[in-house]
Amino acid sequence: MLLQPAAAAERHLSTAHPSPAPMSLEPTSAGGGFASFSLDRRIVDALGALGFETPTPIQAQAIEQVLEGRDLIGRARTGSGKTAAFGLPLLERVKDGGAPVRALVLTPTRELALQVTEALRSYATKLPVSIVTIYGGASYGPQNSALRRGVPIVVGTPGRVLDHLRRGSLDLSQLEMLVLDEADEMLRMGFLEDVETVLAAAPAERQVLLFSATMPAEIRRVAASHLRDPIEIQVEERALCVDHITQKRITVPQRHKLDALGRVLAAEFPEASLVFVRTRAACAEVADALAKSGVDADALHGELGQGARERVLQRLRSGRLRVVVATDVAARGIDVEHITHVINFDLPSDVESYVHRIGRTGRAGRAGTAIAFVTPAEERKVRWLERSLRVAIAPMTVPSDRAIQDARLERMVAELRAAEVPEALEALLDTLEEETSLRAIALGALARLSEKHGLDLSRPADAEPPRWARAGFAPRKGRGRERSGAARAPRPEGDEIELFFPVGAARGVRPGDLVGALANDTGIAGSDVGRITVLPHKSFVRLSREAGERVLAAHDELELRGRRVPIAKARPRSGEHAPRKPFGGRGKGRPKGPKGPRRAGPHGKRGKGGKR
Ligand code: AMP
Repeated sequence: MLLQPAAAAERHLSTAHPSPAPMSLEPTSAGGGFASFSLDRRIVDALGALGFETPTPIQAQAIEQVLEGRDLIGRARTGSGKTAAFGLPLLERVKDGGAPVRALVLTPTRELALQVTEALRSYATKLPVSIVTIYGGASYGPQNSALRRGVPIVVGTPGRVLDHLRRGSLDLSQLEMLVLDEADEMLRMGFLEDVETVLAAAPAERQVLLFSATMPAEIRRVAASHLRDPIEIQVEERALCVDHITQKRITVPQRHKLDALGRVLAAEFPEASLVFVRTRAACAEVADALAKSGVDADALHGELGQGARERVLQRLRSGRLRVVVATDVAARGIDVEHITHVINFDLPSDVESYVHRIGRTGRAGRAGTAIAFVTPAEERKVRWLERSLRVAIAPMTVPSDRAIQDARLERMVAELRAAEVPEALEALLDTLEEETSLRAIALGALARLSEKHGLDLSRPADAEPPRWARAGFAPRKGRGRERSGAARAPRPEGDEIELFFPVGAARGVRPGDLVGALANDTGIAGSDVGRITVLPHKSFVRLSREAGERVLAAHDELELRGRRVPIAKARPRSGEHAPRKPFGGRGKGRPKGPKGPRRAGPHGKRGKGGKR
């Protein structure tokens, strides 16, 4: 499914931010869908079968002009629909099949080459056209025979394409169209020289389409020297498809986010990851905390100069950093695409930013994972994201110590499997098999490796999620409903637990603050809250027994009016039912009936914390 084809994208996602002045965006000629392009009926039919109804912005703008033979620079990334933007005119050109290679698509990775081939095949189901994919790491045999049989379309990685050119198994003398897909990624992977050699091997009269998410100077230079009077199209991030990115969410109270982050990073072990936070202060704080716990992490925020930013990103690219903690402003427009994970430590304020953030992963046909940290109070925001994007953001449990340990062991097994085995050791295998259990050797090797990596296997690791996550978080309902829920459902005393807070009205505490703190930090529902008593120097909140036990098991403090305040189970008080002085009011949220005299003050309002 495409997130937002053309007009729909504009309608759904044009939220807070003005667009970053793209060169062109509005669909131009696609009012009538794909049938309005000068495309063969068979191609249009195939698109219909795929459910493509409305061209995406880049398709709307590119297709007709590419059909006319224009060169093109498309500033677009995976998810924009760029494959069809070049693929449909390409198929139109070679629709009758035939032998000489007439179209070549160069991609940075094998994964992307296979993905492009698959997409082209799906648009060409009704055409007599064959396609060959050539990439490194695979044997030459099948690629050679496919090329010998004759194919009009080749999709491949630059190195292997060049090899075939040099060996004479690939002839580009009849080439009419050359597509450079994800050019910036090819540059990053050191393929630019190969790309230029391939360009030089193609006839002067070919059409070149260059796609790149970013436009570093070197890509501009290639475009200037190899493309003729190209049209240039830029696609906004908000029109992206995020289907290829696995989206997950973890419910986590604000104060446990660092623990959750550490656990997620330890279990998932991203090759490179980007953690988004809301503020510059949080950026430094989170990066510091990670670095202190031994994670290779650094911060990327607005105060850093361009040089410092580039150095951070360079360390990420080269594998010396695994985690970059960034704010939206700092990460804007920066090429950080080869990352495997995006973690929304703080949720962004709008859908557009969310799409922009998670679009930083899942590049060049690789898999990408986006994990959102959601406080219990933000449940509604996630449902809104899901509705706007028409995706399910799957809940994920916080990795337990055991899960982290298992993940580390799995990586060690993979490391052992991937180790190059010298011949001398292979020879040893025959003698070993006789007397020694190979399993014992494998376990021995793992034990040694764990020791080396500081993994303590001497104690059993806890298979349960951390204590704070075990409590479970009921999705928080709207405040109004919470309160009326409490009012409608008074519980008998025996079913309740009373919490004690050592602060009260003298510090400005109001009943609403207590409800807010409980809902935000523990995720309990308003209907679990019973009577609230605010005295000058202490406060009490009654909760259903079940909720109270959950809260006490997972929390020994809560954030109340910006301060961390210890909580405990209240001791039975003498004169329980006769407070000397009422403070504040919870209005309709206060349980009635069997609870004795009203304690909250007379000013309570629905939806507000009440006045002192
Ligand atoms: P791409 O950016 O070319 O990798 O395309 C991203 C995803 O969008 C792929 O799953 C395509 O199948 C899908 N897609 C591309 N164009 C359209 C369209 N016009 N309507 C619906 N889905 C599309």
